[in-house]
Amino acid sequence: MFLSVFDMFKVGIGPSSSHTMGPMVAAADFLDMLRAAPFEFHGLKASLHGSLAFTGVGHATDRATILGLAGFQPDTYDNTKAEEALEQIRETGLVHPPDLPALKFDPREDLKFDFGPNLPGHANGMILMATDAQGDVLLQETFYSIGGGFVMTEAELAAGKDTNEGPPVPYPFKSAAEMLEMAQTSGKTIAEMKKANEVARGCADSLAKGCARLWQVMNDCIERGLTTDGILPGGLSVKRRAKSIHDALQAERGMNLNAPHTINDWMSAYAMAVNEENAAGGQVVTAPTNGAAGVLPAVIRYWLDHVPGASASRIDEFLLTSAAIGGLVKFNASISGAEAGCQAEVGSASAMAAAGLCAVMGGTPEQVENAAEIALEHHLGMTCDPVKGLVQVPCIERNGLGAIKAVSAASLALRGDGTHFVPLDSVIETMRQTGDDMHEKYKETSLGGLAVNVPNC
Ligand code: SF4
Repeated sequence: MFLSVFDMFKVGIGPSSSHTMGPMVAAADFLDMLRAAPFEFHGLKASLHGSLAFTGVGHATDRATILGLAGFQPDTYDNTKAEEALEQIRETGLVHPPDLPALKFDPREDLKFDFGPNLPGHANGMILMATDAQGDVLLQETFYSIGGGFVMTEAELAAGKDTNEGPPVPYPFKSAAEMLEMAQTSGKTIAEMKKANEVARGCADSLAKGCARLWQVMNDCIERGLTTDGILPGGLSVKRRAKSIHDALQAERGMNLNAPHTINDWMSAYAMAVNEENAAGGQVVTAPTNGAAGVLPAVIRYWLDHVPGASASRIDEFLLTSAAIGGLVKFNASISGAEAGCQAEVGSASAMAAAGLCAVMGGTPEQVENAAEIALEHHLGMTCDPVKGLVQVPCIERNGLGAIKAVSAASLALRGDGTHFVPLDSVIETMRQTGDDMHEKYKETSLGGLAVNVPNC
């Protein structure tokens, strides 16, 4: 099992990795299929299924699909160009993907939200079709957006395809138990083993640079969120709060006014800054998803700004350790809210952040595993019930709480010797089973929970 740190942490756009990035990536893959096919295409059609339909409008899945079919991609996304393209598509009913002829695609008639049963492979399904001049389908593909911006075709999903095939890696741990055993035998930290795996896959030169860029994008996102106020889009009239909380915290600095727990407000402000940017469709890094993108940057920023001895030179160690834990969760359970509820998103993010913080604060591999376990264990059962299908309530605040739990988990683990009662593997398996048993209405469909109990929504 190998999942690169650059697959776990991807630069993309808000508000959702599964509902925005995934569909855009799927559309890009479909355009590649069209470029390779021996047909003359005249038009495109798309249908969104399951959670992509139920919360698609709130998560901007329609927008992402339209832009994806017009040739936009998450990592090079330019909002001004996207707005211009959308305007043109609305006026002409045509998309102009690179290296293909202009294709008919009028979102009003060619993009459908299908509120019937889910497609068989996954809760986030979409079907993309290319047609001839009569409107008959010449090429069709079913894609599943499986969380964190990862996408699979129907055939890949059925074949259980490993999305990261490649040369063997020196530390192919598939469970936390294997990871600890390999750490013990090799004398390496989790980050060192992960780094060796990345190097075996050809990431040697780009690793430090890539990790530095990821942190730059994460921190830029925090800074934008801390300096922007106003109302978030989508119709809920949710006020951005990160800036005002941060302004107040800064004003109170040095005035001896604050109770010690105010440090939690700093963490919340950092996390909320990211998730407010995400909700506004800004640039974020999946960590491991967009909805949970605030937890890990908030914990890094907390560490850098508030913990004596912290150094930005160790951010790659933080990210590599976090990615190792995220890979275990993804491989053995899920990082998708549509698959397993918010325990899989904010819970996974909190476990990853706890592990990263524990590692850079000198934790042993056993303590790191313990930190991840504590953080994930105390998110078990958490549902996904975004109000109005928007990644705002409860998502924004929840990232702050995920960061606070991550720091507490790392701290508790560092006070022990790494021995503990519940293995991380057991918590991951419990999360998987709980996700399987969770009613569909609590899995990113906005058909239950807060989504139906908040008045006037
Ligand atoms: S409730 Fe959690 S899983 Fe659901 S959209 Fe919000 S952050 Fe993602």
